[in-house]
Amino acid sequence: MFADAWPLAILAILLAWPVPVVLARAAWPKRHPRAAIALWQAVGVAGGLSLIGAPLAIGVAPLDGHLRTGLVELSRDALRFRVPEALGLGQEIAFAFAGVLAIRLVGVTLLSAFRIERDLRRQRNAVDLTAEHADRQLRVLEHAAPAAYCLPGTRPRIVITEGTISALAPDELEAVLAHERAHARWRHELVVQPFVAWESALPLPPAHRATAAVTALVEMLADDHAVRSSGRPALARALVAIGGTAGPVPNQRAAGAPSGLTTTAPTPTLDRVHRLVRAVAVTGRERLVGPAAWLAAVLLVAGPTWFVLR
Ligand SMILES: [Zn+2]
Repeated sequence: MFADAWPLAILAILLAWPVPVVLARAAWPKRHPRAAIALWQAVGVAGGLSLIGAPLAIGVAPLDGHLRTGLVELSRDALRFRVPEALGLGQEIAFAFAGVLAIRLVGVTLLSAFRIERDLRRQRNAVDLTAEHADRQLRVLEHAAPAAYCLPGTRPRIVITEGTISALAPDELEAVLAHERAHARWRHELVVQPFVAWESALPLPPAHRATAAVTALVEMLADDHAVRSSGRPALARALVAIGGTAGPVPNQRAAGAPSGLTTTAPTPTLDRVHRLVRAVAVTGRERLVGPAAWLAAVLLVAGPTWFVLR
């Protein structure tokens, strides 16, 4: 009777608690940030699908043990404005739970994306009016406090203060700018924003862990881009010199802040400096970790999708 409901419910529980805890504590994501981000995205998508799919499967179970065929049967009755006799209060509660959850996830995600874009547009306009235009993207604010951040979008701005310029050597400044340009070029905000939205929709510990982890991983990706052009020592020295203000996150916190000067990188700067200074070459079995994470991500999304489509 509950052929699809049990696996989906078990998957939803696993992805809601133990999997995020284990993934957040793992050390390998620091060496494979891109694969780790893909795995977090898969955890989010599969978690959402199974969280909505499990109550739906429970709801249609009296009609059919399989989710897809049960939903088809239910829609046939719905089109005839008929409620199947086999459905009772328990099934109605399950449908209501799935419906509220789906509407909340989609609604809050859209609302959050709209608010973030609106706030970013305001901030881009504000720096265009108040800062010196160093080039098409770069804006220099007349402020003594060191800060550098990206206001992402289709026409991104990279903002630094005069305090940053005076605090850094030329190669360190270039490293900081390369970090921010990586955020802008690779649209890192599109990676982080869904997690911020999901955290708003479901403000629970797994969502907090996912957002914190993905935000940190995006900083590592931008650091890796900066290292390729400027080298590890220059970026590490820059991070030490200007502290946590070197890499504001391209997400709601940055977008929602009244001034970019108040935003700071959520990733502890010391962690990023350690990662740069203690970087070890990925060798042997460690090389397999990245591909294994990508494979796990694909399987995670394919699992609940298969339950829906089979
Ligand atoms: Zn950054």
